[in-house]
Amino acid sequence: MDREQFRKAGYAAIDRICDYFEELPERDVMPSVEPGDIGRQIPKSAPVEGEEWSTIAADFDKVILPGITHWQAPMFMAYFPANTTYESILADIYAGAVSNPGFNWLCSPACTELEVVQMDWVAQLLGLDESFHNASNVGGGIIMGSASESCLTVCIAARERALRLHPGTPFEQMVIVGTTQTHSLGAKAALILGLSFEAIETKEEDAWALRGEALRETLGRLKGEGKLPFALLATVGSTSTGAIDDIAEITAVAASYPELFIHVDAAWAGVMLALPEAREECHLDAINARSTAVNAAGGICASGEVHSFCTNLHKSGLVTFDASCLWVRDRKLLTEALDITPPFLRNKHTDTGLVVDYRNWQISLGRRFRSLKLYFVLRSYGISGFQAHLRNLISRAARLESLVLSSPNEFELFVPRRFSLVVLRLKASSPKNGEVEDKDANELNKKFFALTAERKDIHLTPTTVGGKYCTRIAIGSPFTKDEHIKKVWKVINELAEEAKGSQVEGK
Ligand SMILES: *Cc1c(COP(=O)(O)O)cnc(C)c1O
Repeated sequence: MDREQFRKAGYAAIDRICDYFEELPERDVMPSVEPGDIGRQIPKSAPVEGEEWSTIAADFDKVILPGITHWQAPMFMAYFPANTTYESILADIYAGAVSNPGFNWLCSPACTELEVVQMDWVAQLLGLDESFHNASNVGGGIIMGSASESCLTVCIAARERALRLHPGTPFEQMVIVGTTQTHSLGAKAALILGLSFEAIETKEEDAWALRGEALRETLGRLKGEGKLPFALLATVGSTSTGAIDDIAEITAVAASYPELFIHVDAAWAGVMLALPEAREECHLDAINARSTAVNAAGGICASGEVHSFCTNLHKSGLVTFDASCLWVRDRKLLTEALDITPPFLRNKHTDTGLVVDYRNWQISLGRRFRSLKLYFVLRSYGISGFQAHLRNLISRAARLESLVLSSPNEFELFVPRRFSLVVLRLKASSPKNGEVEDKDANELNKKFFALTAERKDIHLTPTTVGGKYCTRIAIGSPFTKDEHIKKVWKVINELAEEAKGSQVEGK
């Protein structure tokens, strides 16, 4: 393709994308394909001779789109959202033009300097303490590919920090602590690092959140067994139910454990901090609080404070996948663990310490130029537009919540709505006691979910918490309007009737 062909193909691609968004509300959310259907249409090897662009572009419609689950569709309410915006799409086009691995400042000063400032924009937007800002020159933020990558990276920093305090601790003794509600990123980080993961049980009466007492017991027990719990993964907005761990109680307990590094995983809910009215619920004060404990670990981070915080702008934050924002209170925690500078990467800017070299804050060397997406989105929406988007999501979910509460014989909320996440259960028709009821209700809810999974026009996800099978409805698409909430409500009520009918027949 030459430049003039690109010009034409580019205009046509933008037209096609605009049509896609126009068609989106009419499309099924779920593709109608069986495993292998898409792969079968793709030649087993690359063509020997190049093909015409028109043929290639046509295959997006013919081969690819039929196999796409439409995450942007208004009735997509599974997992968590993955917002996209025109501003982000344009940023990705520009970033593609200068295609840039941006691993150190010299690679492209703009890539580094824009990211440094963007991470401060977002830190301010969320109300994070100045110690997390790049402007502090001590702490700072970096954009990663995923919350899992952010978590793994800080777990390496936490491990090295603990080893500076307790040199020579065998890996078998080093434990990452989370809860049964922690995302699998915790167990995954432990698996990759060859360490163990301890999941503390959380309780229904605490809305599935980690409380100080349970943490104290677990840390005491692990210490008694000769273990070194060195990292705690606290969650603000768990994947199953949106549970928010009690950060103030956690930091109070952690103050007596100098080697305990606290990471807050707020991959989904963290963006809600952009709303002043959500900050108390998300424990922002406790996240921001500085510790008064003596700092045994060296560096600026003392025990009993949050060391790192992560949220994904690529979920409900209007930035196209991927943009996982990670802040640390002491950038040395990362660089001391990850800085390896071979001679060919030395340069006077890096050596004099005048610039940020993000490669020393992360696992890989090269990195995507993601900050342009944030820059375009935040400038185009403004803080007020960003907040309006979040408030819209919340009000749609509140509407669904009120519909659930208006039919007390049919559905119940498993937990109170958390921002834009509604978790519900279908009530068993004949109320019985205890375990029998739970078992019947679980069977019914499994049937109900299985029926939703057969539908192409909606997409939801199930979860099991405390032995109870529930259905999650995560509102997140900017295209979701009140009419779609009404539609989902109608569909799930029909399916509830069907599930109950088939349960009666089955007996
Ligand atoms: C989505 C989510 C994750 C995983 O995010 P990735 O960026 O895909 O790794 C982890 N934790 C929570 C709480 C999440 O909501």
